[in-house]
Amino acid sequence: MNKNIAVIRGDGIGPEIVGQALLVLDRVAERYGHTFTYTSVDMGGCAIDKWGDPLPETMLQKCVASDSVLLGAVGGPKWNDVPGNMRPEKGLLRLRAGMGVYSNNRPAKIWPQLADASPLKPSIVEKGIDFLIVRELIGGIYFGKHETVSEDGKRVAIDELRYSEEEIRRIGRIGFETARKRRKRLTSVEKSNVLDSSRLWKKIIHELAGEYPDVTLTDMLVDNCAMQIVKDPSQFDVIVTENMFGDILSDEASMITGSIGMIPSSSLGKTKCGLYEPIHGSAPDIAGKDIANPIGTILAAAMMLRFSFDMDKEADAIEKAVSAVLDGGYRTGDILSPGCKQVGCKEMGRLIIENLP
Ligand code: ATP
Repeated sequence: MNKNIAVIRGDGIGPEIVGQALLVLDRVAERYGHTFTYTSVDMGGCAIDKWGDPLPETMLQKCVASDSVLLGAVGGPKWNDVPGNMRPEKGLLRLRAGMGVYSNNRPAKIWPQLADASPLKPSIVEKGIDFLIVRELIGGIYFGKHETVSEDGKRVAIDELRYSEEEIRRIGRIGFETARKRRKRLTSVEKSNVLDSSRLWKKIIHELAGEYPDVTLTDMLVDNCAMQIVKDPSQFDVIVTENMFGDILSDEASMITGSIGMIPSSSLGKTKCGLYEPIHGSAPDIAGKDIANPIGTILAAAMMLRFSFDMDKEADAIEKAVSAVLDGGYRTGDILSPGCKQVGCKEMGRLIIENLP
């Protein structure tokens, strides 16, 4: 198969971790008879420096025209003081909106080799952690009107939170469909005791439930969900929720699995063209030192093969290689534990390539 992948290296550790993921993809292409063509896209701080815009329209069009997008990370302290609509993160929000990817899927899975890295008690971890958060990505409070006005000489800040029934229905469907492919349990997370947007959310999700009689639906308030994720994460299979709740809960979920450097995510919309990235940021504190963990990005590339290109055996091969390297006791600094061998970003990439089955 021939695939055109738009590659956003971004800022901080972005270029290093994406570099390793591309080497893994090259080897997969060679071994399985595919051709991957990479189109470089500037986004984030580097695009601000070069073009005065975190995502110039021409760059967005390269992504839209691709078969899928692989992203490292954007942002960093250098761009902290630029105006709000020019921040590196705005590039990411515009990319998601421009690609129409409304569903962000983040697995929260513990690798048995890294069970010690979880901050939870062994008695909780032993019950198993393997769930997935489906987060609505281009609606809700992050995309509503934001303004700070003056009332009686005092500043008042207003952020608008709105959801239409169509927006809820399309993400709800992804939640049910995803649960159907897994253990058939869906938890819908909202704050319907307070918010109107959540009351509509709950109503629409229950309407959809009729079409998925094989999936068991549970409602949960977001505050309770935040507690349950640390108390008994084994109860979850698929969680579906709105944008801001999903943002917060998915960070909590990644924390309990041990390392932020290990987790990939995918963002999908109506088409097969998705956006794949590690969940962590640009980690400017460790950039350029060859110590970043490239596994989150390499697993994001594996997700791209699986979900956008239907290359299941190629994706399995990458995941098996990661597991084999962990079995061999190799770790980057962020996941290092006593008795293991510390390696850098490049060496981790090389070992994963060497272990590709
Ligand atoms: P952002 O707001 O963009 O998420 P942040 O600084 O809050 O940025 P991250 O960039 O995700 O958060 O990183 C938090 C810390 O986790 C970093 O300072 C770094 O030490 C560590 N970290 C993140 N990603 C990795 C990685 N791939 N490998 C090793 N350490 C990492």
